[in-house]
Amino acid sequence: MTLCDEGHDEVCYEGRNCPACEYRVKYENCQESLDQASELIDDLKQELRERQ
Ligand SMILES: [Zn+2]
Repeated sequence: MTLCDEGHDEVCYEGRNCPACEYRVKYENCQESLDQASELIDDLKQELRERQ
């Protein structure tokens, strides 16, 4: 059994990257994109309101 730096146990993987950690990084990146998209939507809503 291999333990990664984050202590994910019972994860079978080959190579150096732990899949659990890879998914965590992907998830965090997605959260960041979502936050940015939400901000953009708020800006656009504001703009629309000002045009009315
Ligand atoms: Zn891990």
